[in-house]
Amino acid sequence: DPRLQAISNAIRGVCSSGEKTGIMFQDITTLLLDHKAFKNTVDIFVDRYKDMNISVVAGVEARGFMFGPTIALAIGAKFVPLRKPKKLPGEVIAEAYELEYGSDCLEMHVSAVEAGERAIVIDDLVATGGTLSAAISLLERVGAEVVECACVIGLREVKGQRRLNGKPLYILVEPR
Ligand code: 5GP
Repeated sequence: DPRLQAISNAIRGVCSSGEKTGIMFQDITTLLLDHKAFKNTVDIFVDRYKDMNISVVAGVEARGFMFGPTIALAIGAKFVPLRKPKKLPGEVIAEAYELEYGSDCLEMHVSAVEAGERAIVIDDLVATGGTLSAAISLLERVGAEVVECACVIGLREVKGQRRLNGKPLYILVEPR
């Protein structure tokens, strides 16, 4: 797909200050500034999911919120925010997950998704897959079927790995 190179070019690699490890933070805010690349990113996801009978687009706080709602509107699905602890006001279920240093947690409103609904999970980037795995668990606990996880960027950790917890993983670009 010729659109992918321009999407990749619009993502900025930022060196973490004071580090010589060569670990680059992948900054998608520059992708949001590039109207054509941003639109192409959303269009690729919409084309992929529009005819798959998806009724739930679940987005991971915070950068999944920058892509998920637009995709949800275009494919005729609801948008469900998966949030950091204590942000959602209603009854929630929570799923903790391990990070490289420490742990974190995602929460979802229990009443947002019904059993049997077909869902996709959207985030900007997958590294270890821990975050997406927690998202999958939340949706499966309420009886939804997670059809696929979709990210703009896949880091080397998951390179070549196109499945996550048995679920397909769809990635647009992989930084070198
Ligand atoms: P994982 O759980 O797969 O190890 O990490 C993915 C999560 O960390 C995503 O929610 C993603 O937003 C965030 N993340 C980790 N590294 C980066 C990065 O370099 N750039 C961006 N934009 N997000 C990152």
